[in-house]
Amino acid sequence: MPATKAILIVIDGLTPAMFEDAVERGSAPALAALAERGEYRRAVTVFPSLTPVCLSSLATGAYPDVHHIPHLVWYHRGERRLVEYGSSFAALRRAGARRGIVDAIFRMNEEHLSRDAETIYESLEDAGRVAAAVNIICYRGRTPHVARIPGLTRAAHGPRRFFYFNLFESDETGAPFRVGARHLGANDRYAAAVGRWLVTRDGFDVLVYYLPDYDFASHALGPDAAHAALARSDAAVSALIDAAGGIDALLERYAVVLCADHGQTHVERSASLLERFAGVDDLVVTASNRAGMVYDLRGHRARELAERLDGDPATGVACFLEDGELVARSADGEGLDVLAEHPDGVVRALAALRNPNAGDVLVSAAPGFEFADLAGRHHVGGGSHGSLTAGDSEVPMLAVGLGPPPARITDVTPLLLDHVGVERPAYARSLSHVG
Ligand SMILES: [Zn+2]
Repeated sequence: MPATKAILIVIDGLTPAMFEDAVERGSAPALAALAERGEYRRAVTVFPSLTPVCLSSLATGAYPDVHHIPHLVWYHRGERRLVEYGSSFAALRRAGARRGIVDAIFRMNEEHLSRDAETIYESLEDAGRVAAAVNIICYRGRTPHVARIPGLTRAAHGPRRFFYFNLFESDETGAPFRVGARHLGANDRYAAAVGRWLVTRDGFDVLVYYLPDYDFASHALGPDAAHAALARSDAAVSALIDAAGGIDALLERYAVVLCADHGQTHVERSASLLERFAGVDDLVVTASNRAGMVYDLRGHRARELAERLDGDPATGVACFLEDGELVARSADGEGLDVLAEHPDGVVRALAALRNPNAGDVLVSAAPGFEFADLAGRHHVGGGSHGSLTAGDSEVPMLAVGLGPPPARITDVTPLLLDHVGVERPAYARSLSHVG
């Protein structure tokens, strides 16, 4: 009898090349055991290829035009302020930036994530099934949970089984957690302890199991060097296998999808996108990693602003909407042809620009470049992501017990809902849609 439940494992920032190499050489035994029993392909993520955008697409099956999460950092037109989700919850919590914490933890799910999008947890629990989420920052569900930080009384609505960096814990699992040791895999170890507890109890219909620590190491070391971090992510996957009593016992109960949210590429130079707009009034530039956005507060200068990036070595593609039509410019000129070299380039650029929270001009960085963030930080000498290029945009996609793996990360949630017999949201009734 085929498994009727499912687990989605997301290893943040894992590139297809690293996954394939680790499976081939046997250096990630848990991943290899899954790969041996499943079907694999390279799949494509959304644009900008940044964690909050990609995880929202994974959790909802929607492109950004539907889910409305535009970037790591963006300008809220209604509230006339910047929203900064931060690179990680652990980093935010450590920095103690209260507004950033509230934006990243609460408002992203309560306010910024569109009500037109439906998370996999909402779909499941509306159908009377049990959803579980570990550490994933796109968690919106129907069950209120109170934070475990003294003085923070605000409740978050998550799935029934909800574990979020030990800030929210729906059940007492005894999982240990230490903030700030991300480079040593503290988040993945926490996930492993919770995952072991959940699988031991068979406590869910679908578990979304998010492992953030690999991305952190890959940013620092570069996209082909974070072998130790991948070994720790692999150990967290092993914890699920062990809890079930072995790989075959696990797969008797659960179908599995294992993927990343985006890739990473080498960074050799950093650039300031803001500097390109020196002397221009009524505009906001938000940039970090390998994607930037320009908000024209006058509302009619998108072309003029995009043209200012002509000849900028850090700009790979600048795109905008003109009378509702997509326009893309690069060193090769203007036209949709400049998107042809990027996977799903036209569809992804259009979905990004049709997001009401996005800037009027979206900038995909040229290979090797990174845009410095608000604090001037960058990852020169390491890895980054965010652009339309294949290296940032392609992810490993492994499906076990589900037939052929999805070609796009937006197709993961629809596939899992089909598998457990729960109806998809209306916008996801056909595969590979764009709204
Ligand atoms: Zn990520």
